[in-house]
Amino acid sequence: MRPEILFPLFKPVTALKGVGPRIGTLIEKLTGAHLVNLLWHLPSGLIDRRHAPKIADAHTGAVATITLRVMQHRKPPNKRLPYKVICSDDTGELTLVFFHAHEDYLTKTLPEGEVRVVSGRVERFGAEIQMAHPDHIGTLDELEKLKTVEPVYPLTTGLTQKVLGRAIEGALEAVPDLDEWADREYVARNGWQPWKAALLEAHAPDSEAALMPDAPARQRLAYDELFANQVALALIRRHMRAQRGRPIQGTGALRARIAHALPFELTAAQKKALEEISADLTSDKRMLRLLQGDVGSGKTVVALMAMLIAVEAGAQAVLMAPTEILARQHLATIEPLAKAAGLRIVVLTGRERGKSRTGALEALASGAAQIAVGTHALFQDDVEYKNLAVAVIDEQHRFGVHQRLTLASKGHAVDVLVMTATPIPRTLMLTAYGDMDVSRLMEKPPGRQPVKTVTIPLNRLNEVTQAIGRALNKGEKVYWVCPLVEESDSLDVAAVEARHAHLQQMFGERVGVVHGRMKGAEKDKVMAAFATGGVDILVATTVIEVGVDVPDATVMVVEHAERFGLAQLHQLRGRIGRGDKASSCLLLYAQPLTETAHKRLEVMRDTDDGFVIAEEDLKLRGAGELLGTRQSGMPTFLLADLQAHVELFGAARDDASLLLERDSELESPRGQAVRTLLYLFERDAAVRYLRSG
Ligand code: ADP
Ligand code: MG
Repeated sequence: MRPEILFPLFKPVTALKGVGPRIGTLIEKLTGAHLVNLLWHLPSGLIDRRHAPKIADAHTGAVATITLRVMQHRKPPNKRLPYKVICSDDTGELTLVFFHAHEDYLTKTLPEGEVRVVSGRVERFGAEIQMAHPDHIGTLDELEKLKTVEPVYPLTTGLTQKVLGRAIEGALEAVPDLDEWADREYVARNGWQPWKAALLEAHAPDSEAALMPDAPARQRLAYDELFANQVALALIRRHMRAQRGRPIQGTGALRARIAHALPFELTAAQKKALEEISADLTSDKRMLRLLQGDVGSGKTVVALMAMLIAVEAGAQAVLMAPTEILARQHLATIEPLAKAAGLRIVVLTGRERGKSRTGALEALASGAAQIAVGTHALFQDDVEYKNLAVAVIDEQHRFGVHQRLTLASKGHAVDVLVMTATPIPRTLMLTAYGDMDVSRLMEKPPGRQPVKTVTIPLNRLNEVTQAIGRALNKGEKVYWVCPLVEESDSLDVAAVEARHAHLQQMFGERVGVVHGRMKGAEKDKVMAAFATGGVDILVATTVIEVGVDVPDATVMVVEHAERFGLAQLHQLRGRIGRGDKASSCLLLYAQPLTETAHKRLEVMRDTDDGFVIAEEDLKLRGAGELLGTRQSGMPTFLLADLQAHVELFGAARDDASLLLERDSELESPRGQAVRTLLYLFERDAAVRYLRSG
């Protein structure tokens, strides 16, 4: 249970003064629904109002807080002209300027003859010194309150600095003093303040330096977040490791049969990975293994073989993919092979309903089906397995730790194999996966032709479509990817549909389209037609980014390639060059290119090595974003920046393991404080693994 001391922070933001349902929704979208979420929304800038000059000394263009006497209101002769209020001090005159003024309000706040304090940007208009729409107007007793530094927060449309700033202030007022959870000596060595003081300081930056990730207050907060994350992961890991695995010994019969049916030999890397997996399964430890291999390295076959070991031992296995399309894709690869070996395989996604779902559920519960392929629907509450032993999770970074846990609870000590194409740097890997064992497919299957990559400005679209025409005439297949338009599903779809219509005019019915708004069955139909015939150009959003395998496809066109991240471009390009035909990737870009975008396209042109690309990506973007924040289930940190805070990261990890060594159930006073920390960062699930969680 969440400790009572945190209750005020978990109130809805609408409990704050000045936050009604409308503002509440906006804040929720920006930061989250509870007060605590506002705490983590740190300022990105500041306005220094401490500069309080006389009128004559005020610098043009600078923000100043000026004490002056209101002399005269000048109503404009017509509404298009501004309302002016002439003010002065003993050095000169300053005109306050208001467009669309409310006269009543102005005569009330700025009565003629009175002294007022105004704060805003000072401008010069000819000889006239002006301030248009002061940010603040107050009386003389409010001077000191106005002469401060104001934090500037990142906003979202519809939310103003004032409203958000006040809401955050309100949330900060609700912050309780909490006992120290970090190692006191470490805190002292870094010269850090207690958590609450650091939090307040981070929200009240007094200089640009205070906004930097290495400012002490920000470091402290980042550390707390990383420490919470590390303790939580350690607890989860301990729980998983503590459960005995079951030794699974396959006969090798099914694997032999399927290896024989495959049109290729397994590569040395695939064989080695399988040996490692098989050793894990045979032991009584639970398998927690990551299979890392660049796109096209042949992970699917390894997954299938791993599942067959379970089936050989009389148990069941599942393969979970992050999307419907991918799940169907895996099914298409695996089903014919599995069927040839006399196995029954079922599919479970959000789309299976009614009879087909009931049928699948029965087959899994009775053991009639040995293998299930699907999405997270595989692990809904009402899905039961007769004897689940192995779970393979594809493209793991799209799932969260939480999903991995529900999954593990489905079988008796399920062995887990996670597959990812993302070459994850070591720091990130530890954050997301803890200490999983790793198998790598560094070598690609033989006979692959390298993909030729060219970059072309969008205004040469005509040449591109001509080249596409020639490729089609040679019987080749083409992907055409349109970018995600920021934050807007409907705009994406419009862009994709427009391109589809345009290409259809040129190439007729052989142009198909898939995007996120289509119904599952429609998508399948188009994907199937692209794989087997009927559709030769597939216009798509990034729904095809991950895992789709159509070996005949040889051309990948990416429209507005400058809007994609490197990892995404690499994934997309990985969709081609899977067969033995030469392939090309055309990256179309709009001019002018930013420096980063230019560099990205250059990297793509120069290399197809996933690790090199990931490293460049890390340099260009920073670690937090490496995996694409939009869809990734990777823990994205709010306060910690994996690049700027690497050292904190290591320290948090060491401190977490030391703490749990000494106080494994978090029962000491410091342990109690750490529990509170876990709740503060919403790691409730991890606390449940403690004896008295
Ligand atoms: P990914 O690692 O990206 O998931 P896939 O498993 O989809 O890669 O494999 C990519 C392609 O390579 C598939 O068409 C697959 O049939 C083929 N493939 C896999 N292993 C081998 C191999 N040992 N030799 C030749 N082709 C292979
Ligand atoms: Mg794959």
